[in-house]
Order: sequence, then C-alpha cells, then structure tokens
Amino acid sequence: MREWVCENCNLVFLSEEPVSCPRCSSKKLRLKRKEEDEKSEAKDLKAGACINCGGSEFILDWKKREKICKKCGSIMPLVRMH
Ligand SMILES: [Zn+2]
Ligand SMILES: [Zn+2]
Repeated sequence: MREWVCENCNLVFLSEEPVSCPRCSSKKLRLKRKEEDEKSEAKDLKAGACINCGGSEFILDWKKREKICKKCGSIMPLVRMH
C-alpha cells in the first residue's frame, strides 16, 4: 500500500493504484512523499568519509553537487550511495 494525496481536496488515503479520490472522485492524485525519506536521503549524501584523509566534515555544494573536505580540501561528487 502506498499513500496518496488528492490535489483537489487534500485527502490522504492508502491505495495501491487508485483511479480517483474516494472522497471527491478527482483524478488529480499524487504519491505522498514521506518526510523521513527526504531526511535519510540527505543523510546518505553527507555520509562517507573523505577518500583522501578520512575526514568526516564537508562543505556541501548542492549547486555543483560536490562536497569539499574541510580538512584537506578534496572535492568529491555528491552522489547517492546505493
Ligand atoms: Zn479528493
Ligand atoms: Zn580530506
């Protein structure tokens, strides 16, 4: 089961593949993204020590999708670890 949000009436309901909102029959439905998912994603991106010096503190550059080690200045790509 997944959580869906109706964009018309904001009803949140559980369904696998809903066709329309159970309350207002609107077909404007979107999957609800859980906050925890976003948080753990950010954690993933920050995780991992510097490959050069093993340091764990980084300056994150989201625009360039890079992280810079505070210790040695190494630049590493900010990518999802999966
Ligand atoms: Zn609705
Ligand atoms: Zn480093």
